[in-house]
Amino acid sequence: MPISEFEIYGLVKELSAKNGFADFGCAAAEELPIEVQQHFLSAMQEGNFASMDYLGRNIEKRFNPTLLVEGARSVMVFLAPYSLPHHLRPIEGIAQYALGDDYHKVIKDKLFAIMGHLKEICPQFQGRAFTDSAPILEREWGVRAGLGWIGKNNFLISKSCGIKNLIGIIISNLEIPSTLEIEPQKQRANCGSCGECTRCIANCPSGALSKPYNTDSRLCISYHSIENRNLPEEMENGIVPAFHGKFFGCDNCLDACPWNSSNKEGWEEFRNNYGILSGRDKEWWMNMDEEEFKRIFKNSPVLRGGLKNIKAALVWGKKGQNG
Ligand code: SF4
Ligand code: SF4
Repeated sequence: MPISEFEIYGLVKELSAKNGFADFGCAAAEELPIEVQQHFLSAMQEGNFASMDYLGRNIEKRFNPTLLVEGARSVMVFLAPYSLPHHLRPIEGIAQYALGDDYHKVIKDKLFAIMGHLKEICPQFQGRAFTDSAPILEREWGVRAGLGWIGKNNFLISKSCGIKNLIGIIISNLEIPSTLEIEPQKQRANCGSCGECTRCIANCPSGALSKPYNTDSRLCISYHSIENRNLPEEMENGIVPAFHGKFFGCDNCLDACPWNSSNKEGWEEFRNNYGILSGRDKEWWMNMDEEEFKRIFKNSPVLRGGLKNIKAALVWGKKGQNG
């Protein structure tokens, strides 16, 4: 007997929990509302994406998952927690999500496992898995799937699962009911608003969040340390903010958020390198060569910033704008 769409929803929810995701939600695959599109386009026009030109490509697909995956009917959204357990202290200078294996692979492996099960039960299933790997406004889909709201720091916040979650997406051809339709109570449990809170803005050391709901990457330490391919050159030209001891990413606007108290404990895979990274001083990094860097961090997100940026950031410290 064919499985009903409600049963498919229940099955994915079960598979999500079995694979350790903190939460799951689903929304109909359709073009995003015009105000969401306008928000993205204004940020782009204002130059907030700095050198990340790839964000301006495939705009139509970014706003409409049915153009990204042929026959798309549903967008399934999964939250992958990465918060450190309480007994482990954060490692100064490195963003928490980067203390373990590369999240692209960790999350995709789990999404592939879910898709494998779905295919067995619904032979008509076709889908594609994404995590920060395609033009998708992932946080927006998190909102549409009833998993939370986008905070003034631009991260997805869930009342029940906190703020330190990465997002995995499966776009599929299955007609699955939306979470808002099937579990309206979940939206009440997860969604809210920032209200009068401005803690993330006050705790951004570089002024990148001077406008709520907009991160100006030109001033963002996270952008410069990880994404900026011309970091040393821009430092020479004095157009880079002070790094305040950070050398790979920045968690200030996340750590300041009161919803951290709801974080679920992160997956072990996201802290595999904790032992290697803890207690290391500047000299350890400065004495490292490319070969050693690639060997130690071959499966790590730290590889993305590159050793050149890490060393430049460590030397830069409090120099720069707002230093
Ligand atoms: S990551 Fe750091 S620099 Fe960037 S907006 Fe957040 S607090 Fe500011
Ligand atoms: S710190 Fe406050 S304003 Fe910023 S995202 Fe969290 S709740 Fe919203």
